[in-house]
Amino acid sequence: MRVDVVSIFPAYLDALDLSLPGRARRAGLLDLHVHDLRTWTHDRHRTVDDTPYGGGAGMVMKPGPWGEALDAVAPDGATLVVPTPSGRPFTQAVAADLATREHLVVACGRYEGIDQRVVDDASGRLEVLELSVGDYVLNGGEVAALVVVEAVVRLLPGFMGNADSLAEESHADGLLEYPVYTKPASWRGHDVPEVLLSGDHARIAAWRHDQSVRRTAERRPDLAHPAQALGAADLDGLL
Ligand code: SAM
Repeated sequence: MRVDVVSIFPAYLDALDLSLPGRARRAGLLDLHVHDLRTWTHDRHRTVDDTPYGGGAGMVMKPGPWGEALDAVAPDGATLVVPTPSGRPFTQAVAADLATREHLVVACGRYEGIDQRVVDDASGRLEVLELSVGDYVLNGGEVAALVVVEAVVRLLPGFMGNADSLAEESHADGLLEYPVYTKPASWRGHDVPEVLLSGDHARIAAWRHDQSVRRTAERRPDLAHPAQALGAADLDGLL
């Protein structure tokens, strides 16, 4: 997969050189390019923002540099991701969908955001997704871009050493993951649940499923609880 990120703070994206994303880059799974938006400015101060039409606080990112940047790095057929708190929620399902694309371009806003005409113009020739990573406001789109790129890239075939770990994770099936434990079996007076030491794989699977159902109901009652994932019996007494 090719990913291009455009930002006025390209160094924010250096973290994608670390850990598994870094290994994916070196293995050729992820072809990542980070661009400085100011490359596409033409004035001495390399200006990317201006005052908002209609008044109000803050500055807005000018359409000119963004238009030229996207013309240069987003060919027809690419998918443009625009992080914004007013976007549709970025979820595991959206990540899985984006993982099927060949080319993602992420446009990182700053200040009060990007002039809306940039998205309107790009929508004429690109698939454009305005995505929110949560109901809070960050200073810029770079951290959101890290979230989106990391969540998408770890779903690429060949990224995870053991693909089974993806299937059991939180949000893979509408449930949060069960609690996990490692050695030693007893630590500071806290024991690992006996069932996990039993070697009985059916009992372990049933216990984990039950823990997932309970956690989801207790911590995230807002998540959809598809009957097929939970089962009517699971739901008894929980919801
Ligand atoms: N004035 C905007 C509003 O109220 O919706 C907030 C702008 S924010 C300070 C600057 C940039 O940070 C946004 O353009 C976007 O790129 C990014 N950003 C902030 N919060 C975000 C979130 N929850 N999800 C995705 N991107 C976010």
